[in-house]
Amino acid sequence: MQLPILLQDIERCAREAGRNPEEVRLIAVSKGQPVEAIQEKVLKFEHFRLAENRGQELRDKIKLLPDPHLEWHFIGPIQSNKIKYLSQVHTIHTLETAEQATELARYADKWGRSPKLLIQVHNGEVQKHGCPPEDVAALLKTTRELGLTVEGLMVMAPYDQPEAARHIFQQVSALNARLELRELSMGMSDDYHLAIEAGSTLIRIGSAIFL
Ligand SMILES: *Cc1c(COP(=O)(O)O)cnc(C)c1O
Repeated sequence: MQLPILLQDIERCAREAGRNPEEVRLIAVSKGQPVEAIQEKVLKFEHFRLAENRGQELRDKIKLLPDPHLEWHFIGPIQSNKIKYLSQVHTIHTLETAEQATELARYADKWGRSPKLLIQVHNGEVQKHGCPPEDVAALLKTTRELGLTVEGLMVMAPYDQPEAARHIFQQVSALNARLELRELSMGMSDDYHLAIEAGSTLIRIGSAIFL
């Protein structure tokens, strides 16, 4: 789908859900895509929010696309030996543990800046990543005590199960509201309409843009 068409559809979903379309922002997931495709399918339309899920690939792309307008998001698992690649990231969506928060705080000190953080919530499926919902409040507290900024929650819904996805999005949205957080990273190519309905503010879309 051409990016302008996708943006129109996101805006339509927001209006249908009775929301202000300006609250819903698109992040183009550029993982696995060569720089030429990113230029052709995203940057050409003056869209500057991109996400990667691997540290080295992110570092390489920042070098190849040094445009200061670009806002880089990291959406892959945080590995302690790869945090070094995240120095220029705007937001990390995948904080799962207090150990990761401690490591990130150490790097933030070194860098003189800290990426904003989102806590990834475990979605209840047989899936290894994410903080269990009942532990999110404690992780939030610990992370803030380390001087880091947590802006919201992130979750991935199970594939091809719209009813389960809707339920998970609503639960994580309710948790976000209880914790008085303002950003909510939910929704991918196949389920962004459900995520917008449930209150998502950051939509992470890859295949719908690049395939
Ligand atoms: C790949 C990926 C996406 C984008 O998924 P699509 O189905 O290609 O839109 C979103 N979030 C995360 C965490 C991903 O790894």
